[in-house]
Amino acid sequence: MMKTFEKNIRRVTPYVPGEQPQRPVVKLNTNENPYPPAPGVEKVLHEMDAGQLRLYPDPTAASLVQELAAYYHVKPEQVFVGVGSDDVLAMCFLTFFNSEKPILFPDITYSFYKVWADLYRIPYECPKLQDDFRICKEDYYRENGGVIFPNPNAPTSLYENLDFVEDMVKHNPDVIVIVDEAYVDFAGPSAIGLLEKYENLIVTQTFSKARSMAGMRIGCAIASPLLIQYLNDAKYSFNSYTMNQTSILSGVEAVKDKDYFNAQVQKIVRTREWTAGELRKLGFVFPEPGANFIFAKHPDLDGTELYEALREKDIFVRHWEDERIRQYLRITIGTQEQMETLIAFLKTYSGLKKEENR
Ligand SMILES: *Cc1c(COP(=O)(O)O)cnc(C)c1O
Repeated sequence: MMKTFEKNIRRVTPYVPGEQPQRPVVKLNTNENPYPPAPGVEKVLHEMDAGQLRLYPDPTAASLVQELAAYYHVKPEQVFVGVGSDDVLAMCFLTFFNSEKPILFPDITYSFYKVWADLYRIPYECPKLQDDFRICKEDYYRENGGVIFPNPNAPTSLYENLDFVEDMVKHNPDVIVIVDEAYVDFAGPSAIGLLEKYENLIVTQTFSKARSMAGMRIGCAIASPLLIQYLNDAKYSFNSYTMNQTSILSGVEAVKDKDYFNAQVQKIVRTREWTAGELRKLGFVFPEPGANFIFAKHPDLDGTELYEALREKDIFVRHWEDERIRQYLRITIGTQEQMETLIAFLKTYSGLKKEENR
C-alpha cells in the first residue's frame, strides 16, 4: 500500500543504461569508442596536481568553452558545457520545453527523451518513424511545444542531410528545435552551420562517442547567445559547478588534437564499412549506418535468441523488447579485431541455425 507521504513524491520510471560488465567482454553495447582519447588527455591526468582540487573549478569552464568555440567557428557566448550531453539535454528540457503543447520526438529514438519529459512533466507526442525507419518530417509541421531528434538517429544509425534538418527548423519557428548530434562525426556535416540563419536551433554534442571520453562526462550545446544565456541562467539556478577541474583540462586537450580525432573517426568508419559488408554477406539487413553502430536484423534469426547467444559468448550488444524493433540488434563498432570475433561467431551461429531448419 502507498504511504501517505509517498503521494507527494516525484515518481519516475528511469532511463535504463546499457550494462557495464566488470570483466573483459567484447563490449559492443553502449556505443563507446574502442580507442583511447587524444594523448594530451593522458598527459593532463598524469600531470594533474591534487592540490588544485582544494579550489572550486571555474564555474564558466571558460577554457573549454573557448576551445570549443574556436573549433566550431562560433563565439564563446554560443557554447554551453555540461556533464555529458545527458546533463546538457536535461538542462535544455528544463529551460526550453515549458509549453502546454506537446513536444515532439520520434517513437523510436534515444529513450532518455521520454524520461526527461516525464520527470519535468512535459507533455509529448511521438510521431512514428516510417517503415524504412526514416523520420517523416511533415509529422513535425504542426503546433507543438518544441522538437528534439538525434541526427544520426539512435538506435537506427540513420543520418539525415542538412536540407532535412533545415526544413525541420524552418517549419518550427515558434519553438525550440534541438538536434542531438551525439554521432554526427561518423556521418556528415553538423547543423551548427545553420545557426547563422536560425535563432531557435540548438545543437548538442558529446565527448562520449567520437572523442573516446565517455568516462569523463563532457557534453556541449551550441546555439545563439540568447538561448545559451537562458541555459546558463537555469544552470546557475541548479548547480554552478557542473564541470570539474579534470574534465575542463582534459576536454581542452581533446578538442585541440584535431589530427588524432579525425584519424580515430576514420578508423571506426572503415571498420564500420567492413562490418556492414560482412553482415550483408551473412544475410543481415539494416538501415544505412551513419553512426558508430549498426542496427541489424536477420530475416531467419530471432533477435532475442541471437542476443542471448552472443551474450553466452561474452559478446555484448544492445537489444530492446519493444515490439517494433525486437528483431534488431544494435551493434557498436569496436576494434577491427572485435568485429572479426563477432562476425566469426555469427557465421557459425547462422550456419548451425540453417542446419537445424533443414
Ligand atoms: C550517448 C548519447 C547521448 C549522451 O551522451 P553523454 O555520454 O551523456 O554525453 C545523448 N544522445 C544520444 C542520442 C546518445 O546516443
